[in-house]
Amino acid sequence: MPLNDEKKNRLKEIPGIDKLILKINNKYSVKSIPKSLISRKTKEVVDDLRQDIVSEKYNCKEQVNSDEIAEKVYKKILKAHEPNFKRVINATGVVVHTNLGRSLLAKEAAEFVFERATGFSNLELDLKTGKRGLRYSLVEDLVCEISGCEAAMVVNNNAAAVLLCLDTFAKGKEVVVSRGELVEIGGSFRIPEVMEKSGAILKEVGTTNRTHLKDYENAYEETKTAMFLKVHTSNFDIIGFTSKVSLEELSKLSMKKNIIFMEDLGSGTFIDFSNFGLPKEPTVTESVKAGTDLVTFSGDKLLGGPQAGIIAGKKGLIEEIRKNPLTRALRIDKMTLAALEITLRLYRDPKQAVKKIPTLKMISQTLNEIEQKAHELKELIDNLKIKNLKTNFVKSSSRAGGGSLPETNIPTICLGIETKLSASQLEKLMRKNTPPVMGRIENNKYLLDLRTVSENETEIIAKAFKNLKNELS
Ligand SMILES: *Cc1c(COP(=O)(O)O)cnc(C)c1O
Repeated sequence: MPLNDEKKNRLKEIPGIDKLILKINNKYSVKSIPKSLISRKTKEVVDDLRQDIVSEKYNCKEQVNSDEIAEKVYKKILKAHEPNFKRVINATGVVVHTNLGRSLLAKEAAEFVFERATGFSNLELDLKTGKRGLRYSLVEDLVCEISGCEAAMVVNNNAAAVLLCLDTFAKGKEVVVSRGELVEIGGSFRIPEVMEKSGAILKEVGTTNRTHLKDYENAYEETKTAMFLKVHTSNFDIIGFTSKVSLEELSKLSMKKNIIFMEDLGSGTFIDFSNFGLPKEPTVTESVKAGTDLVTFSGDKLLGGPQAGIIAGKKGLIEEIRKNPLTRALRIDKMTLAALEITLRLYRDPKQAVKKIPTLKMISQTLNEIEQKAHELKELIDNLKIKNLKTNFVKSSSRAGGGSLPETNIPTICLGIETKLSASQLEKLMRKNTPPVMGRIENNKYLLDLRTVSENETEIIAKAFKNLKNELS
């Protein structure tokens, strides 16, 4: 496009970069922001403006305003200076939400992470002998104490735990799994594929709905079979005409055949959820007691700790696993170990664990407690007196999430929000708030489930509505 006089004048009005930077420094508090970032963002804004003037995206009848440019730069600087990894308010009612960071750490565990991360430690030092120690031993005795197993090992996550066990004991050999347990967990963890990666050969037995002991028995071949593997069907239920083989029966059979019996529990827990009126999830302790040789489970699902994979099992087997060079690649970090140790310690007193571990606390929360938060939030939002905005209580159900209690509806109280916008438009606006608020849409209605919202977060949610006052009224 040709440069007419109007455009030339507008281009001339753009202040020099140095002048703009000076203006920004005087007008805004940007002392803590690196100079290189300020200058880069200033150049970007000026370049964009030049382009817009040339291409007439900018209305060339209007004079260039340096205050407006400075403000634009400042907003860009703030955005670039903000971490990408943000706090999000979880009002979805899904307690262990894979997209929102799974389990929250207990305060005690998080504080301990800070201490161990900012100071030196005995991470790999045996203080008795002064020689090199094993990082796993920092939590091994606790896992044994709580689950009743002989020995334990911890790695990066449960997927790594399963891979490591298969790689150590079943490379080039057959692993027998029921067709009803060939599970896919979100995020591409599929039992048949992990098996293939480890070099183990999957031997499927039974049918989708029914598998019997004789299926395992018939699948066994002396020179080929390394393991019977049971996988917890963590994120689905098979109902109707079904039959499964019990852990005890499989344990007996594996002993008779002298092969390993492993269970991938997925979301391992040490707490019996039927105490909270919920269906029972298998506990690690029960799996060990039933005679499994190896049990694997996650640190950040129902356990409520950091991301980790825990292997609880027989001493000889754990020793062999430790010799596998893969352990180095799957190794657990010191911050994780710190969080895991304190989380496990909390389980020594299950009543305390339920109070202090956020995942357990949220799952076991009573309707009364949830209702109280819903009332609080309703009042805060109603007090904003936003035109066209209506709030009301909605009885609904929360989910445990994280591949646990898949079909269980946990009764909850939500605050439903009606505005002139559609539920999905409102969802989008709330998601774009700082901090983002994630609600859920049910029957075309936008709901905030208070089960996963803490007491001090109701004000943040109300503030999000305050920020949207203009858009909503
Ligand atoms: C969740 C799950 C896994 C994967 O655990 P991560 O800790 O996410 O790696 C493996 N197996 C089962 C049965 C699971 O539920």
